Amino acid sequence: MTANPKYIILLGPPGSGKGTQASVLGENQGLPHVASGDLFRYNLKNATPLGLQAKAFMDKGELVPDDITIAMVLDRLSQPDCAGGALLDGFPRTLAQAAALDKALTEKGVQINLVLNIQVPDEEIVSRLSGRLICRECQEPFHKMFKPFETCPHGKCHGEHLYQRDDDKPETVRNRLTVYWNQTSPLIDYYRAKGILKDLNGYQAIEVVTQALIDAVAQL
Ligand code: ADP
Ligand code: ADP
Ligand code: ZN
Repeated sequence: MTANPKYIILLGPPGSGKGTQASVLGENQGLPHVASGDLFRYNLKNATPLGLQAKAFMDKGELVPDDITIAMVLDRLSQPDCAGGALLDGFPRTLAQAAALDKALTEKGVQINLVLNIQVPDEEIVSRLSGRLICRECQEPFHKMFKPFETCPHGKCHGEHLYQRDDDKPETVRNRLTVYWNQTSPLIDYYRAKGILKDLNGYQAIEVVTQALIDAVAQL
């Protein structure tokens, strides 16, 4: 087990590049990528009771209720590969989730080290998400124009499993943005007040954002 577990949160609106960046940053830091949306989609694909409960909320672009979400993510964080920390993507998304995470980490004697707040203007989000393609096997995000499939970074596939998420339709995306501003953006002040938030400009080339994130983590 690592002496000092590292917990890093990627915060930002849908489409800000959390999944894209987590894939590289997780590898760079040797941290498991824990993405609540990926966990829900895994449960949906396998038609588990959790997946069935989450589906109606996800289809509408609403948040899945806190109790379900918190239990799912804390369970994931209690698995052995997260003993050295984790790179959290898409969780927490409400103040109640943030409080539950703080409590769980405090009980383990650890804490969140850094919250990376990836900022992207709303207008850019709709164009990013309407061209997003996801690999059904690895969850890796690609983009029809901005990041066409070349190779699977996980060495598993050849682009045969790419699909467009149902909730990436423009009308659902607009609702997800409203949900982000109402329910998730208060976390920016919550973590800023703790002195662990770092703002980053996510409206730049993918590689430029990656380097800025790596630099921010290196300052820890
Ligand atoms: P994106 O990164 O594009 O915003 P995600 O894959 O993170 O999308 O999430 C997809 C959907 O899964 C959300 O719209 C929501 O319904 C559900 N979800 C994911 N994470 C959470 C969370 N922390 N709390 C509640 N619902 C969540
Ligand atoms: P999130 O996990 O925050 O919802 P993703 O990482 O899935 O966001 O990115 C959303 C879409 O935007 C994907 O299709 C991705 O390829 C694309 N994308 C990510 N970062 C950038 C960027 N810096 N510039 C242009 N497109 C990007
Ligand atoms: Zn793949």
